[in-house]
Amino acid sequence: MLSELKEAVWKSNLDLVKSGLVILTFGNVSGIDRRRGIVAIKPSGVPYDSLKADDIVLVDLEGRVVEGWLSPSSDTPTHVELYKAFPQVGGIAHAHSEYATMFAQAGREIPCFGTTHADQFHGPVPLTRLLVEAEVVEDYERNTGKIIVERFAGVDPLELPAVLVAGHGPFAWGRTPAESVETALVLERVAKMAYGTMALDRNLAPLDRYIQEKHYLRKHGPRAYYGQKKETDHD
Ligand SMILES: [Zn+2]
Repeated sequence: MLSELKEAVWKSNLDLVKSGLVILTFGNVSGIDRRRGIVAIKPSGVPYDSLKADDIVLVDLEGRVVEGWLSPSSDTPTHVELYKAFPQVGGIAHAHSEYATMFAQAGREIPCFGTTHADQFHGPVPLTRLLVEAEVVEDYERNTGKIIVERFAGVDPLELPAVLVAGHGPFAWGRTPAESVETALVLERVAKMAYGTMALDRNLAPLDRYIQEKHYLRKHGPRAYYGQKKETDHD
């Protein structure tokens, strides 16, 4: 079932490794078939070099396995919570990429210091609150999804397609699994550049709002004009 989706999720998981965002078996990518309400996700703890498209596990929106012989990623309940709350999202990537994770560990959102950031994110990359002990003891992964959703109250998840979970790391998303990996990659680059920018000037204010808006809106939304008919480039 859903062999195309499984193939896309498998490929995106390998791309996440190739991008250098994950080591060992850390990290996972999922995708969803909205019509059927089925999520395809990496199995738990399988080394990437032996991962096959057929190993990708299918789960429903209750997190129950509907196809696959391996256990799904332990982060599956987090992904499922996000798919339920964000109907526009078609793929989610999770990696403990170094710079984005540093911001998450420091409990700081990523300010927008330049147009690289503004091209991708419509504002600072948001940070969740910390989970309280009871939320960690019971249903930890589902509660991780819930605090992300809580943070996005009134926020369009496609305008801010990533989040930093405090003390943990980033989740990134997009309309497809491939797009979620691309978001994760841009997020890491933006986090690295913000870190360096803050090292050079620790009191620097974010980029002026009018430049941020110009860059975001020329690439996204009804009045976008950047690129060819279907944009793939960034500059
Ligand atoms: Zn994690």
